[in-house]
Amino acid sequence: TITHELVTPLGFIKGYATTLLREDTSWDPQTRQEFLTIIDEEADRLRELIDNLMDSSRLQSGTLSMSFQPLRLDTFIKEVSMRAHTRYTELQIDLNIEAPGLQVSADPTRLAQVLENIINNAVKYAPGSPLLITLAKTKEQASISIKDSGPGIPAEQVEKIFNRFYRVKSQNTSIRGTGLGLYICRQIIHAHEGKIEAESEEGRGTVFKISLPIESKIN
Ligand code: ADP
Repeated sequence: TITHELVTPLGFIKGYATTLLREDTSWDPQTRQEFLTIIDEEADRLRELIDNLMDSSRLQSGTLSMSFQPLRLDTFIKEVSMRAHTRYTELQIDLNIEAPGLQVSADPTRLAQVLENIINNAVKYAPGSPLLITLAKTKEQASISIKDSGPGIPAEQVEKIFNRFYRVKSQNTSIRGTGLGLYICRQIIHAHEGKIEAESEEGRGTVFKISLPIESKIN
């Protein structure tokens, strides 16, 4: 899978770049734009894949460094959701901040990576579904849940999605991925002394639940 995932974008990039450089053909502006867009998107995909592979191997060797700082979750979640809006203009995200002012100790870049991975997955595997992001306080923990109304995951596979390289069988096989994302998410959350789980019902959707120790509450 990894080799395939690496070679596919590289093939597109090389192929379209070579095509555009051919001196015996001239391309109209629209076609040029289409080819350049493909090159741009495939380069992004490759970047993401390489980042994931590097994170995964740093996690395996225990060298993924984190830089913790006090982080106010309500504003942080709003920022992540605004960035997601910019990236996916069609995506509907509803925010439900039940517990404002909660502060945790976190690496903001890594925590954003976790939320973005879950949101990107929702766009990939639950296309067209609105997302509900809730911030609450449960049992002295800050809890963030991200819920979609997509196709869900078969019960016997839900826990396995956090395994390295695991991808749900029987799902649309044309959706590209490596099965590294949620493995990395879980390791990052564990490094924050938190927990991440998924609950899913086939045909109804999936909810990812993250809990983190509260450091303090501000008003
Ligand atoms: P990738 O997306 O690269 O396959 P992830 O580790 O991010 O890897 O996800 C693992 C698997 O979990 C995915 O392959 C997909 O089968 C399943 N999955 C993740 N998020 C969702 C979701 N919101 N709805 C349904 N299935 C999901």
